[in-house]
Amino acid sequence: MVSSYDYLSSHKIRSTDIRVAVIDLFLNSNQAISKNELEEKLPDLDRITLYRTLKTFEDKGLIHKVVNSSNKVKYALCIDACTDHDHHHDDRHIHFECSKCEKTICIDEVPLPQISLPAEYIVNKIQLSVEGICQDCQ
Ligand SMILES: [Zn+2]
Ligand SMILES: [Zn+2]
Ligand SMILES: [Zn+2]
Repeated sequence: MVSSYDYLSSHKIRSTDIRVAVIDLFLNSNQAISKNELEEKLPDLDRITLYRTLKTFEDKGLIHKVVNSSNKVKYALCIDACTDHDHHHDDRHIHFECSKCEKTICIDEVPLPQISLPAEYIVNKIQLSVEGICQDCQ
């Protein structure tokens, strides 16, 4: 298990107490986390600082946004490639959303289907969501 300090420094991000506290939550979670959940878990942190930290992490390719079917924004940890490729997000994976408990999970082990658009379109991002029932809710 990597420490949060090591994780940040290996991604060339200066550690601050707040950054460590926030990335800690992501490193210890196997599912995407909403802003509300982050606020609940870090009650001492003011919202603006939290949002700024999330923005920094997103810009640096540490976390990516996941929007679920009810338009709720969550954040999930990126694969290392996002930081390696000049912070260009490369999270090409399926997001599974449980329709009972609403948890959202990044599924990295399943390859995305090949999607070819007509030549006049430039694809920046492919988001694929799958809804169903998670293991805990079955
Ligand atoms: Zn990413
Ligand atoms: Zn569930
Ligand atoms: Zn994801």
